[in-house]
Amino acid sequence: MSEMAGVYNANGQHPVVLVCEHASAYMPEHYNFLGLDAPLRQSHIAWDPGALSVAKLLARKFDSPLVHSNASRLLYDCNRPPEAQSAIPSHSESHTIPGNVDLSTQQREERANTFYEPFRTCLRNILTASKQEPVIVTVHSFTPVYNGVTRTTELGILHDTDTRLADALLGCVTNLQADRNQPYGPADGVTHTLREHALPNNYLNVMLEVRSDLIETASQQESMAMQLASWLTEALMLLNVLKLPVTSQRQVPL
Ligand SMILES: [Zn+2]
Repeated sequence: MSEMAGVYNANGQHPVVLVCEHASAYMPEHYNFLGLDAPLRQSHIAWDPGALSVAKLLARKFDSPLVHSNASRLLYDCNRPPEAQSAIPSHSESHTIPGNVDLSTQQREERANTFYEPFRTCLRNILTASKQEPVIVTVHSFTPVYNGVTRTTELGILHDTDTRLADALLGCVTNLQADRNQPYGPADGVTHTLREHALPNNYLNVMLEVRSDLIETASQQESMAMQLASWLTEALMLLNVLKLPVTSQRQVPL
């Protein structure tokens, strides 16, 4: 397995398989940071701050495997197919990415082979190894202010043509502003992982987008992971993927 994709808790036994495509801002040295200064290459345009921490906490709570990227989405966005221009963006928000401008076909292929193919293979292997039918949950974060506009959504619940898990989950979320297909949706090309790995196999799936100001500190991450775990569990019970725990099926005498 390439070091550009990683698996956490590979032997997890829970049906949920977690995915974090934008887990890291890392760039191997020879890419010269794509010509970006330090603040920019650590900013949300390079990765999803907080997403990997929340995904790891979820993996521990569920005992789920988690597949994640180990490099910046500016080198290659693992939630995009190689043929998409946005897989290697030459612009992000209001910024030009100098190292991505006018790449040759060969250079684009090199990026896809280095970053995307190991990630795709890694996720496919984990899904194939699952002892029960897997449920794909991808974990992302989004910036509270984008192009100068403040976003009111706190939790985006995104789906492509299969809405089953998203519908169930939207009914379970309490005390957060949860919105369907916000701050963006399938028309923006953000459901690639779901389309590639879930839809052809009819696996239940959902993409979670957490506003990043809600998962900045370790205690915020812990409390978000706890809530997400509880809502996902409830939704998966409604869909008969998980059974009610034995203890809640009987009255415990006082
Ligand atoms: Zn993301």
